[in-house]
Amino acid sequence: MNRQDIEALVRPNIRALCPYSTARDEYQGPLGIFLDANESPYPTGYNRYPDPHQKTLKAQLSSIKGLPAENIFLGNGSDEAIDLCFRVFCTPGRDNAVAIAPSYGMYAVAADINDVQMRSVPLGADFGLPAEALLAACDAHTRLLFLCSPNNPSGNAFDPAELEEIIRRFPGIVVLDEAYADFSAKGSLRAKVLEYPNLIVLQTLSKAYGLAGLRLGMAFADAYVIRLMSMVKYPYNINQAALDLVSQALKQPVEAKVAETVAQRGRVAAALPAYGFVRRVWPSDANFLLVQVDDADALYAHLLADGIIVRNRTRVRGCAGCLRITIGLPSENDKLLASLDRYEKGDIHR
Ligand code: PMP
Repeated sequence: MNRQDIEALVRPNIRALCPYSTARDEYQGPLGIFLDANESPYPTGYNRYPDPHQKTLKAQLSSIKGLPAENIFLGNGSDEAIDLCFRVFCTPGRDNAVAIAPSYGMYAVAADINDVQMRSVPLGADFGLPAEALLAACDAHTRLLFLCSPNNPSGNAFDPAELEEIIRRFPGIVVLDEAYADFSAKGSLRAKVLEYPNLIVLQTLSKAYGLAGLRLGMAFADAYVIRLMSMVKYPYNINQAALDLVSQALKQPVEAKVAETVAQRGRVAAALPAYGFVRRVWPSDANFLLVQVDDADALYAHLLADGIIVRNRTRVRGCAGCLRITIGLPSENDKLLASLDRYEKGDIHR
């Protein structure tokens, strides 16, 4: 695909959009007496609007992620970027999107909000990538294809070569959600956005970086796609406090925490199959495990009574009997396993 192909996929009203021009867009000279944005002149630390283009934080992320700033979009969580994909590429009531299932629930919710039909394609055996079925689900009005690797809730990362083949063959925008890629040995495909203009890779600071409360999601894509998303976003979508705190936090290394989480994932995954009530533990490339048990509702209630809250996914299609368990601190995982020991012995809360 080339730039013209991508342009043809954009909603006509967005292609023609004249974006809002902020006071900071119209004056970019040296600091002076700012009487141009109807801000309060009384300092509170936050009386000025933040940089709508987030230049400083993008420069910092550019060196961490190894991609030029023009290929980076910053959103209020990756949830904002997911919504923007629909707003930029899908004409409501006409276009459709395709996604693997089960996967992260926001793809379908964002589709519903934008009045875009979502076509869910079940994952194959062992939650494998159904490449042919995904491509077969597309028609002339399919604009977006959502893939998530490592996938939530199954935890598995897909083979990068298989993902790349889909990106090459799909005649629309592939949104590859890599929220959990920091925990995976399979790595990231974000560098491929320089090669494939129809690829948007999503990452987030909510998981490995431990900053879910600050709401900072990233989309990596061709510079033209980034410009489209930036035109449609709210002008000041990342607030000044988030810009400052994220910038500080990025100076702290995360590798040791990620390594501990990965080691704890191995430890919990190894301990679980010994319980008689555990039917299956899927291999995980993320910071959680999907576990199939004899009675998911009963185990969920037992853990809850012990003050341990997991995600009950038993009513999700393809996840019957499954709980999704996030990997916690070593001491929290100790308590989880101790609670499972009691459940095994019949010392059950109901
Ligand atoms: N993508 C996936 C696959 C997720 O599981 C989640 C959060 N559970 C998100 C995106 C949302 O991330 P953010 O906090 O950046 O909005």
